[in-house]
Amino acid sequence: MSKKNILITGASRGIGKAILESFNKEHFLVGTGTSDSSVDSILKNIKSLGLEGEAFKLDLGNRKSIKQLVSLLEDKEIYPDILINNAGITRDNIMLRMQEEEWDNVIDVHLNGQYLLIKSFLKKMVKNKWGRIINISSTSAVLGNKGQANYAAAKAGIEAMSRSLARELGSRNINVNCVAPGFIETDMTKEISKGNEEILASQIPLGRLGKANEIAEVVNFLASEQANYITGQTIHVNGGLYM
Ligand code: NAP
Repeated sequence: MSKKNILITGASRGIGKAILESFNKEHFLVGTGTSDSSVDSILKNIKSLGLEGEAFKLDLGNRKSIKQLVSLLEDKEIYPDILINNAGITRDNIMLRMQEEEWDNVIDVHLNGQYLLIKSFLKKMVKNKWGRIINISSTSAVLGNKGQANYAAAKAGIEAMSRSLARELGSRNINVNCVAPGFIETDMTKEISKGNEEILASQIPLGRLGKANEIAEVVNFLASEQANYITGQTIHVNGGLYM
């Protein structure tokens, strides 16, 4: 594959960091984080791995921040050929107690944020007659989860949006897919899994939580030429939690 610009949102920690680390020197990597220290840590990581790339600040819950990132990349003439929408948050609460802010925040960061990023970079992908969009979903989209109506709705929306885009963009040689992780050991799941590791593992046929690199490998595959004929799919990586 020729050199590609790859944008990974939320590349400072967890799954996004592992995705960034799964690529090799032939590509130009752009990672985002929400703070200066996150951006610094991505830059350090890129450097220490001997990769070529840049890191920028992005808050997907803030439309101004999304616009700023897009115009910064345009100024630098960095147009993502491969867009990996990974960044995410949880604001869990049962519906009886869920605040509008918790609902809006999760829908904004996941669904609205991804829509705005995809729309911003699509024109160039269409012009280039090549593109890959990989969106990180969750098993919550298909299983549902107590206290995660906001998150499950956002992730189900992402999957449905991806299938529609795959139909719209197939003729332009742009593949759109999702990867839906199960229970993966990252900061996002630290609190829930603390002390509950055995109970959680007992619900998973493979008997353990997943690792960030086990998601990254699948994302990397979908970005590769080996996945040229895959579009509109959600690939589940969950140790058998959902099948
Ligand atoms: P994580 O360890 O909590 O990392 C989240 C990443 O997203 C960080 O890089 C963070 O940046 C960034 N981020 C947070 N809020 C943001 C915002 N408002 N705007 C832009 N970026 C933001 O999470 P993770 O477990 O790696 O999750 C990555 C993706 O996988 C998410 O979409 C998540 O929903 C999905 N997922 C995870 C699991 C799991 O078990 N872990 C399961 C299913 C799906 P900072 O470092 O600057 O805060």
